[in-house]
Amino acid sequence: VVAVANRARTERRLLVLVAVVVALGGLSVLSAGLDHGIRHVPALWRLAVAAVALLCGDVAVLHVRFGDDQYSFTWSETAVVLGLVLLSGGWLRVVAPVCVALAHLLARRPWTKVAFNAASFATGCLLARIAFQLASGHATVQRPDQVGTWAALAVAAFVFFLWNGLSVAAAVSTAQDLPLGTVYRAGLGLSLLVWAGNTATGVLLVAIAASRPQMLVVLPVLVGLLYLAYRSYLRAMQERDLWEVLEQSSRAFIDLGQAEMARTVIARTGSLFRADFVELVLVEGEPPARATVYRRFPGGDVMEMEAAAPDLTLPAWSAARNHVEPFEVRRTTAPERLRRELVRLELVGCAVAPLVAQGRRIGILRMGFRGRHRLSARDRGVLTTFANHVSTSLHNARLFSAMNEERAKLRGVVDHSSDGIMSVGVDGSVTSWNPAMARITGVPAPQAMGAALFAGLPARDQDGAPVGPRWLQQRLAGVGQFEALISVETTGSGRRWLQLSAAAVPSAGDDGESAVVVCRDVTALREAEEAKQDFVATVSHELRTPLTPLKGFLMTLLRPNFNPEPHELHDFHSRMLRQAERLERLIEDLLSLSKMDAGQFSIDEVPVSVDEVVERVLQDAARPVRHARAGMAGLVVADPMRLEQVVANLVGNADKYSPPDGDISVSVERQGAEVVVRVRDQGPGIPEDQQERVFERFHRLGHHLTRMPNGAGLGLYIARRLVEAMGGRIWVESRLGEGSTFAFSLPAAPLVLTSGAQIPAPPHQLVALPAR
Ligand code: ADP
Repeated sequence: VVAVANRARTERRLLVLVAVVVALGGLSVLSAGLDHGIRHVPALWRLAVAAVALLCGDVAVLHVRFGDDQYSFTWSETAVVLGLVLLSGGWLRVVAPVCVALAHLLARRPWTKVAFNAASFATGCLLARIAFQLASGHATVQRPDQVGTWAALAVAAFVFFLWNGLSVAAAVSTAQDLPLGTVYRAGLGLSLLVWAGNTATGVLLVAIAASRPQMLVVLPVLVGLLYLAYRSYLRAMQERDLWEVLEQSSRAFIDLGQAEMARTVIARTGSLFRADFVELVLVEGEPPARATVYRRFPGGDVMEMEAAAPDLTLPAWSAARNHVEPFEVRRTTAPERLRRELVRLELVGCAVAPLVAQGRRIGILRMGFRGRHRLSARDRGVLTTFANHVSTSLHNARLFSAMNEERAKLRGVVDHSSDGIMSVGVDGSVTSWNPAMARITGVPAPQAMGAALFAGLPARDQDGAPVGPRWLQQRLAGVGQFEALISVETTGSGRRWLQLSAAAVPSAGDDGESAVVVCRDVTALREAEEAKQDFVATVSHELRTPLTPLKGFLMTLLRPNFNPEPHELHDFHSRMLRQAERLERLIEDLLSLSKMDAGQFSIDEVPVSVDEVVERVLQDAARPVRHARAGMAGLVVADPMRLEQVVANLVGNADKYSPPDGDISVSVERQGAEVVVRVRDQGPGIPEDQQERVFERFHRLGHHLTRMPNGAGLGLYIARRLVEAMGGRIWVESRLGEGSTFAFSLPAAPLVLTSGAQIPAPPHQLVALPAR
């Protein structure tokens, strides 16, 4: 909104300026009527020559190169000097604006420009005439062969130059909102030079015409030759610029992404071909499904748009279908869709260069022109070369980004792999080390990279040979790949077992082979394997422990001469029963375990009084155990048999792992919506890092005090699974040397104590224990 408002204000101010200049011009023309010289009609030849000079003077533009910049100048002062000499009195003020207006109309300039220039010229002529009169003392040119006249003409031309510069500067400063002084001063030096040149040319022509008119015939030849020389100089300069720009562009393209490149291409195209509109269309997909369109009008920013189905939405792209070389399209002869687009873009025509890379059309580069324009053969050549540069660079940029994407994907796979992956260079040093590798070994990538394989991490294979670069090289030699199980002493997590598979990778040079090594951490598997072996040994031992005395008793009983007393017999039987019960418990545990693993384990859920269950267990306890009751509050929803199994296990452990005189106590407490049971002992305690692990299957502590012969490392595992299946939790609180408290919680049964102390039974349900 602000921009629109500003533009409207600028346009209003411009119109005011034009109106002022036109009014001044009008007054100048009218003042010609007051000049009595107007009554002497000049000779026709004078009128004709002056008209030609004025027609060409303000329109024929001279392009002057100055350093790296190019300036455009007219021959106005030459025309004014000739006009002053040829037309007496006010005639110049009448003929000049007419000719200037005509010239500008022929050049199809907008009417405001026509009016402004014509009026400004008229005023300039009036001022020049006055200056001439003041300098020479005559109203008209009397002696064109005299130095005084020439000087006065120079003064007049200077005054015209000052006025002309001022009016143009006013117009530019108004249009571009810049201070007048700044605009006037910019390029003043060069303008002065041009004034001097133009004035000198005018004066020279006058002098020659006055003294030797026949020389005027020779003059055009001289001027023509000079002009040709200057043009070829200009060409050479342009050519140099052109190749400089081409070279710069191809160099600049090397490390640009698509969007930045598009901007550079557009800027360069605009400056190379002086186009009024530049467009770069880049299509994707085969057949083209999408296109990105970059566009710029002079002075504007590059706009970026997306086009779906470019064949249907971009007429220029469709028109380029059958072209490989640049081609031109004019509004008058363009296909309908393209014609309408050109009208919309206010373009008279456009030149389109197809962008082709590896036989595939990847886009078009188009420039549009507001005026009439035709590409020269040279322009075509340049455009072809430029388009080739652009296509190749774009193709490369796309390849590069595709490669980067691929690399990123690969990186992602390596980074997120749970297996350790590393590469080892020809010299045996580590060249890459993924996060899993760092996790497994505890050595971060920056530390591992560049160092020798497993440096600082003592590693051995199964034969006890140290694992390092030499080991890797020897094992790879000849076979190219191998697998091995190694053990590594890591910094953080002790000894790890790694299943290592290595493959040789031929390196680019002929200087050897690098290798990729994948390491899978199989420590847990190995531990489980070891635990299983341990378990079989333990279970066999456990089964044999009660069997041996049982067998002994039976053999004694079978002895023919064995006649025991009744109390002896009773003792025998009860001892045998204890062993049989022990055997039964162990088999029970093993059965529970196998049922749990098969997912066939189910539990009942009914209201149970925990105190009653604890009591039942304590009746069989090997030593007296204190029991703190919860009473009615200790009612839970659980499977009574399983609950008893859990309590028996915890109490049994407390007894098993405590010294014979150690106190054991059980407490039952209601805590919120749960009932918590705690079994305290004064045993050796459990170190903190083992407190979770004792609940793992087959896990037993290494401590001599806590590794009684009659244990398989299954009790706590089964207890945890049972408690969790009944909706509770189980945990241990312990400090080494200070005894342990094993605790579990179960959901409390809802209590209704008021209306008849009724305990509503929850729906009787069977819950399948999930397999683990
Ligand atoms: P186990 O049959 O070996 O007793 P558990 O699963 O019941 O199997 O117990 C696992 C291990 O936890 C035991 O081997 C023992 O090392 C340790 N443990 C269990 N209860 C206690 C306790 N009250 N005090 C100290 N250590 C215990």
